[in-house]
Amino acid sequence: MSGQDAALMATYARQPVAFDRGAGVWLWDTHGERYLDALSGIAVCGLGHAHPEVARAIAEQAATLVHTSNLYQVPLQARLAERLTALSGMQQAFFCNSGAEANEAAIKIARKYGHARGVAVPTVVVADGSFHGRTLATLSATGSRKVQAGFEPLVQGFTRVPYDDLDALRRVAEHQRDVVAVLLEPVQGEGGIRLPSADYLAGVRALCDQHDWLLMLDEIQTGMARSGRWFAFQHTGIRPDVMTLAKGLGNGVPIGACLAGGKAADVLQAGNHGSTFGGNPLACRAALTTLDIIERDGLAQRAAQLGAYLLQALRERLAACPGVVEVRGLGLLIGIELDRPCAALVRQALEKHLLINVTAERVVRLLPPLVMSDDEAELLLDTLCPLIVEFCAEN
Ligand SMILES: *Cc1c(COP(=O)(O)O)cnc(C)c1O
Repeated sequence: MSGQDAALMATYARQPVAFDRGAGVWLWDTHGERYLDALSGIAVCGLGHAHPEVARAIAEQAATLVHTSNLYQVPLQARLAERLTALSGMQQAFFCNSGAEANEAAIKIARKYGHARGVAVPTVVVADGSFHGRTLATLSATGSRKVQAGFEPLVQGFTRVPYDDLDALRRVAEHQRDVVAVLLEPVQGEGGIRLPSADYLAGVRALCDQHDWLLMLDEIQTGMARSGRWFAFQHTGIRPDVMTLAKGLGNGVPIGACLAGGKAADVLQAGNHGSTFGGNPLACRAALTTLDIIERDGLAQRAAQLGAYLLQALRERLAACPGVVEVRGLGLLIGIELDRPCAALVRQALEKHLLINVTAERVVRLLPPLVMSDDEAELLLDTLCPLIVEFCAEN
């Protein structure tokens, strides 16, 4: 495959395979070989590949109207906003085209909210190990030096705390006057499927209320039923002021959303923000169809049930493997942490026709389609567990 990408910027370390067809949890490469997809294009294709109803809706919409611009009313966009706010308890939505853009909107809301309160240098608290995107503001918010290195000067106005550490946040409240918001992932995805303690988000919510900060949750990876609820915050009994979505929202058609409620509602006014493509009829139709199918087919419940099964099965089958530090997850966000770097497992799994990912160097990450069947889950376990056992024995 090398040489094929000569005209592309070398921004990705790609696996040596190209897929030209998909159906459900399966992908076929250009030689006609079939692969089990346990990654969903990084939490994007929750309904699996080439879902017939999504495909039909996209084709129908493409033949009707793709784009008009936000100079005009876009009824499908308004309908999608209604659906998402009803499901989340938020009040308003702004649509864009990616996760990073959704977080940019959130950061702009935080700054404008702060300025309205007379804060000179509005500061957003972010966490170690977080991932919020690759634009300048979102890479500055991201808690990984690897993402930032080479792109300094970073965007100002962020302060960092350890994840899952309420005391650190309390100290920020004591010492910093300019804080206006906290931006967190309810479960850190790129950071290695890190789940905070059960009371963490409620504690953050209380601190935000106490200090008039916005609680902004990045649900770009955790949202859209993957956690076993529509949104991961719904496991916690609290609600954020701002929530961002993207990845699974359009089942592969690019669309992002920034939702606001409470004190964050109405912060952005005409002329404050915009996007040419954001919320166009094609993307909104894909997202509306995705929402309909998740709801009708009970896929949040399915994610919870299959996730719990996979977690237990992985724990049992890897219990005797000394290299496995922890198996953890929430719904179909699953991480298997090893005691050593394991990026090589991705290629070894590929050779067994299984698509997985390794993040944070030592964490095997599984983000299977929400539609994965029991038999397909067994095949995933039967392929992956021996690979990990063998890897730990040999490395
Ligand atoms: C993927 C991701 C992003 C960035 O989304 P893009 O669409 O790649 O810009 C931001 N935050 C989280 C938690 C993500 O998983």
